Amino acid sequence: MSVHAEIRADETSVFPRFLDLAYPNVERGEGVRLYLTDGREILDACSGGAMVACLGHGVSEIVEAAAAQAEQLAYIYFHQFTNEPQERLAERVLDVAAPEMARIRFVSGGSEANEMMLRLVRQYHVDRGEPERWRIVSPAQAYHGATMGTLALTGRPGLQRPFREYLPSHLHLPPSTPRFDPTGQAALDELDRLVEEAGPETIAAFLCEPISAAALPGYSPPDAFWHGLAERRERYGFLICFDEIVTGMGRVGSWFAYQQLPVEPDVLSAGKGLGAGYFPLAATLCKQHVYDALAAGSRELEHGHTWDGAPLSCAVGLAVLDQLVSRGLVERVSGRGPSLRDELEAAVGELEIVREVRGRGFLLGVELVDPRDGESLLPNEIDAAELVDQVAYEHGVLVTSSHASPDRFAGDQTLLAPAYTSSDDELAEMIERFASALADVEATVRERLA
Ligand code: PLP
Repeated sequence: MSVHAEIRADETSVFPRFLDLAYPNVERGEGVRLYLTDGREILDACSGGAMVACLGHGVSEIVEAAAAQAEQLAYIYFHQFTNEPQERLAERVLDVAAPEMARIRFVSGGSEANEMMLRLVRQYHVDRGEPERWRIVSPAQAYHGATMGTLALTGRPGLQRPFREYLPSHLHLPPSTPRFDPTGQAALDELDRLVEEAGPETIAAFLCEPISAAALPGYSPPDAFWHGLAERRERYGFLICFDEIVTGMGRVGSWFAYQQLPVEPDVLSAGKGLGAGYFPLAATLCKQHVYDALAAGSRELEHGHTWDGAPLSCAVGLAVLDQLVSRGLVERVSGRGPSLRDELEAAVGELEIVREVRGRGFLLGVELVDPRDGESLLPNEIDAAELVDQVAYEHGVLVTSSHASPDRFAGDQTLLAPAYTSSDDELAEMIERFASALADVEATVRERLA
């Protein structure tokens, strides 16, 4: 078979996600540069596109650690055995990154880790003698995974359709976004209303992204919301769960986002940066009191996937953690994040298609609007998100944009999440390429609107 630089649905045996898209064929990566099979170079401003490759591509220390572990023991089932890499990684993550947590279970991906959160929360309440607690309240404008269990946690109709029949009826807060609810009070009022209507004794948890990723890039509600949420945890007796699949492991300038907020979760998930794209790895973590409830109750956390806690994935996790610590990368993200946001704002903030540049650490979001008034969401037919990604790609930079939601809670938005290892020059080049792409997008959008 000849090697194509781009592959369409009718040229492949793969069942692609989008049948109308020509997929660029990436051959290799070096640091923050990706190379296609035709030699073209793309600057990766989104850690592989899914905010995963936080150390960049081709880190030889991690490859060597993986190879050494694979030679010794790649796989053993966690159901029957434990292994040294799993034991050491659990201890190190809790020591170094999440000292406020007590226990950790490793899985392969973000959806699995969030499913695990659901199981753990449910088992916690059942073991404490409150089996009627099952409902989860979560903000509608969010993403928590692709399994049916996690899909039910978002309230985005565009994602849930046509799978609604498979989804339990959890409760959602619309629209707790900066545009509709700048103080966070509307979200708290809605939370009260939903909990009272359903009955507080049926509510198992409030679950959210503490700092949003793709669904509202870089957004976190104001402190008043978090204080109000903590107060309601006491009042209603539910747990707080944070989905830190994206924000965990340094992405926002602290090991976890909760460490920047005035409330700590009882349970949280981590993913992407844990394996940094070198092996699928994610985890669910909990506080001591959550563990204690199961220890005093069923004495079982019944949830398992074949690859949970495997030696190979955990050895990769250890090598990633070594890199983060020895190179001071969380400190780097924390120190460089604010100026990076300022530089992005200086480069694109004047464009009339941009309403806001926001974010923390190396998780930055650009909110796009109708350039004619600088405020209204763009009409869906303009397809601004796809246009941005396409034009950015033509300018040689990889970013990831989200479409406006059909309920109009959020408009088109672009997310930049470079590797923590990006040099200042590389960051400047990413911003420069993205800014010139966005200027072109604005011109095209104006044409389409006319
Ligand atoms: N949670 C958040 C916030 C995410 O961004 C994602 C994936 O992008 C997930 C959960 C699901 O993770 P995965 O795709 O690894 O299942």
